[in-house]
Amino acid sequence: MRTVTILGATGSIGTSTLDLIERAPDQFRVKALTANGDVAGLAAAARRTGAEWAVVADATCVEPLRAALSGTRTRVAGGAQAVCDAARSGADWTMAAIVGCAGLAPVMAAIESGSTVVLANKEPLVSAGDVIVAAAKRHGATLLPADSEHNAIFQCFDASRPARVRRIVLTASGGPFRTWRREQMRSVTPEQAVAHPNWSMGAKISVDSATMMNKGLELIEAARLFPVAPERIEIIIHRQSVIHSMVEYVDGSVLAQLGPSDMRVPIAHCLAWPDRMATPMPSLDFAALARLDFEAPDEERFPALALARQALRDGGARPAILNAANEVAVAAFLARGIGFLEIAAIVADTLAAYDPPSPVTVDDVLAIDAQARMMAGERARACV
Ligand code: NDP
Repeated sequence: MRTVTILGATGSIGTSTLDLIERAPDQFRVKALTANGDVAGLAAAARRTGAEWAVVADATCVEPLRAALSGTRTRVAGGAQAVCDAARSGADWTMAAIVGCAGLAPVMAAIESGSTVVLANKEPLVSAGDVIVAAAKRHGATLLPADSEHNAIFQCFDASRPARVRRIVLTASGGPFRTWRREQMRSVTPEQAVAHPNWSMGAKISVDSATMMNKGLELIEAARLFPVAPERIEIIIHRQSVIHSMVEYVDGSVLAQLGPSDMRVPIAHCLAWPDRMATPMPSLDFAALARLDFEAPDEERFPALALARQALRDGGARPAILNAANEVAVAAFLARGIGFLEIAAIVADTLAAYDPPSPVTVDDVLAIDAQARMMAGERARACV
């Protein structure tokens, strides 16, 4: 019996994780579930799983949560600090599935507790990768990648012989606008941008997939997680999302991980690792698939890719600025405050306008994140 905490339990990744652990109640006991403000979703999950703790980041939601959980043994707390306390509550296994850099402090708290920390939440790794990886080493925490591409690489990568890896190939679906001209993208609506052809995901990552910033963030994430030089990490468009990424070795062998485009597959891999567990997913039907397509990404139509690659090359504070500006721009786009093409433009302008020294601590990263958010917010308001 392993104890499990899910940070971001009410989101897309959180509910997929809950689905798996609720199918194996004899194997997992829920320590804590957290959300931002979805009281109904959190309370329902806490009741179903008998969670010890249910925690909302938005402190104004504590009383409604308490009311929704009255008559249960689940304890209730609220506020950003309470989410960090839940993260360090000593679970054996913690799913980090908060969206955005808001997950950074909870991820650090889970690492400090020595838990196995499963990273779906990629933004903290982009903004504070070095700090996170160093903290995991220091505290003896195990980091496992749940992002499907990084989980695929993890499954294919011979960690004992990193020098034998020639390159990593990250696959990308290309998102809903893969074949669109830039001019057509100008009038994209939030509804169109979140309608991903292959994956069902939260709004922010869906927009990131549409701009391809998601692949840019993943490029940085891959460089943080695997000992491979950034120029050896390539991106290829593979519209069927069946191959989740590949590792090529010096002898020319390419190992790929394939599977259905359902996040329960990589999450199950992390839940059972180093063992395997059954999931309800049907086997891939190769005859029905018939073909797998590949094409080079187009950085002219999707400039977010080039911005992310440059931020990775430059290092220091650049990835944190890229990420913060992108979070602000995506939120502004979803609120209909800016156009789709403005997202990458705001990221580019924020990167051009702000060049602080490299961060060393989490507090440094958070200060850079806050300043970049302010600048990106001003730039977004200027669009109106
Ligand atoms: P969702 O938007 O569906 O869920 C986000 C979760 O985080 C919710 O539980 C939400 O609570 C909570 N949350 C939001 N803001 C805060 C905050 N300020 N403090 C604490 N909790 C907060 O996102 P996804 O599940 O799609 O994505 C989560 C992370 O996983 C992202 O980093 C994403 O990039 C990554 N990821 C997602 C994939 C997917 O398939 N969805 C695939 C690979 C990676 P509430 O519901 O109350 O708002």
